[in-house]
Amino acid sequence: MAKAVAVCRCRICGQEFKKEAFKYNRREADSWKAWAEENINTCPACYRKEKSMTEKDGRKVIRVHYADYKANYDFSNIKTVDYDEKEKSIGIIIPEKLYIEFEVLDKEGKREIQGGEISYEDLDALKYRLKEMAESEDSGMRATIVRVECIY
Ligand SMILES: [Zn+2]
Repeated sequence: MAKAVAVCRCRICGQEFKKEAFKYNRREADSWKAWAEENINTCPACYRKEKSMTEKDGRKVIRVHYADYKANYDFSNIKTVDYDEKEKSIGIIIPEKLYIEFEVLDKEGKREIQGGEISYEDLDALKYRLKEMAESEDSGMRATIVRVECIY
């Protein structure tokens, strides 16, 4: 048996994730790894989210765990539906767009507020990029999201 570990990148949130498989021999394991890195492009968390997306009255709704909602999506004007007491899940009505306001701190320590619109689907990728920026030594720039507004 040969173990294959593929390092894939999620097309939605941009994070790297690993997929493992056991194959008959090294050659098959290497071939599977190459295939997986090319073709598996949605991380488990984003996959679950995509699967849970439904339509209600012509609007896209995504079901998330209530804790995830409180931690990541509890924007002041977000619209929610169908809180499920038993499952502890809630439906988020996906906004057309999000207006994001950042506080940017440049190399010289100058603070500036910047804003822009992104799609709801890009929010996770944006958060990941900001995290990468914060952890990188050489960029010297920091940006924090200070306000998120849903545009329906
Ligand atoms: Zn992802």
